[in-house]
This record gives sequence, structure tokens and C-alpha cells, in this order.
Amino acid sequence: MSEEILKNIAVIQSRINRACINSGRNPDEVKLLLATKTVPAERIKIALQSGHTLIAENKVQELKEKYHALQVLPHTNHFIGHLQTNKIKDLLKYNVSCIQSVDRIDLAEKLNQRLQFERKTMDILLQVNTSFEESKFGVDPDKAITLVSKISHLENLKIKGLMTIGLFSSETEKVRKCFRLLKDIQQEIINLNIPNVHMGELSMGMSGDMETAIEEGATIIRVGTAIFGKRLYPDSYYWNNHKN
Ligand SMILES: *Cc1c(COP(=O)(O)O)cnc(C)c1O
Repeated sequence: MSEEILKNIAVIQSRINRACINSGRNPDEVKLLLATKTVPAERIKIALQSGHTLIAENKVQELKEKYHALQVLPHTNHFIGHLQTNKIKDLLKYNVSCIQSVDRIDLAEKLNQRLQFERKTMDILLQVNTSFEESKFGVDPDKAITLVSKISHLENLKIKGLMTIGLFSSETEKVRKCFRLLKDIQQEIINLNIPNVHMGELSMGMSGDMETAIEEGATIIRVGTAIFGKRLYPDSYYWNNHKN
């Protein structure tokens, strides 16, 4: 089991390298984030020991369940799931350094309020729904700039970039359109020079579309299945509006 994970990571590393070579980028510009939903802590530890230490959960409950087991190894936690406002207080207990899935003002405001109370700040990415699919979370592309402007006034939130989930399609050019759109929005925001807003990170690309995302400028790719194997639950369990 452990060999399988290490072998898979090596394959991903070579896919990253090849995609970078093909697009004239430096592999150091692309961070590999391990998407660990449904993966037991013991398996995550194998990946952490290989030196890949950026991991992310989709649910506060899972973050909590694995938290203690993972403390023995150094790592960085991001959060990539749909976040309900009533889970904010809980999430802040588990040492998450970046929430990649901020997609609405009420969430940002409540998060900022709680951070203020705890005298903390939080890096965030704005999640944009570039595939226009109903089932996916994220702000509409044409509302992204307004949301960024509003969030820029919330002093305990540090906007570091954008995140998206590309269209699920075997047609690469349709998927590429999503990533290009995210890059275009990033550029528009950069041009506006909004105080307290940084646009360094583009989190896009998963097991099936990471090469396309890297070609279009991804700085963080989020990989689960290609490292840990197929998940028990369908992704709709995480991406639709489940109340937990
Ligand atoms: C599960 C998940 C991933 C990883 O997807 P894979 O196809 O398993 O690589 C990436 N991003 C988000 C937001 C996810 O929920």
C-alpha cells in the first residue's frame, strides 16, 4: 500500500515536470497539494514522509478526525471544501493556513469577524465557478471582481489568489477554457491594483486535468485520486449542498 502511494507521487511529479517543460515553466512554480478527503491518516502520513507536505480537506469533520494523528509530521493545511458559516469557529481550531474556497460575502464577513475576535489573520483564495455548472460552488465569474473588492476591506483576510474546479469533460479544450477564464480574471484583478489584494496563486487542476491547468498557469494543483486511489464516496457528496 505504501509503495503504491510513493509510486503514484513519483508519477505525478513526472507529469508536473513534463507539463512544465511543454509550457516553458519552471516546476518550482507549481505546488502539489494533496487532496485527502476520505483518506485515512495513516495513508496521508506516507505521503507526508515523502516530502509532500501541503494537504487539504473538504470537510471540517474530517480535518478534526485526522488532526491529532497527523501532528507527528510537519505539514501545511489548506481547506478546499464548501464551508458553512456555522463551521468557521471549529475550523479555526485546526491550524488551517489558507481557505481556498471562499465564494460569498457572508462567509467572508463571518470569517473575518471570528478571526478578529481571535486576533488572527487568514490567507484565502476566492473560488470561482468557471464551468458554470450548477453543482459546483464558487462565485460567478462576472461577480468575482465585486466580491474581491468587498473582501479587500476585511482586514483579517489576506486574499492570495483564485481557485477553480474545471469542467469535468474529456474534451481538453473545454476544460482549458475554464482555466483561461480564471487566469483572465486574475489579470483583470491585478490591473485594478486593489489594496490588500494579492493574486500570486492560481489553484487549478486535479488528477484528470493537471497538465492543462499547468499549461494555463496553475501555481497549485490539487491531486487526490491519482495518488491515493479511488474514493468510496462520489464527489457529489462533497460538492453538492450536503448539510454537514
Ligand atoms: C477532491 C478534490 C480534488 C482532487 O480531485 P482528484 O480528481 O481526486 O484529484 C481537488 N479539488 C477539490 C476542491 C476537491 O474536492
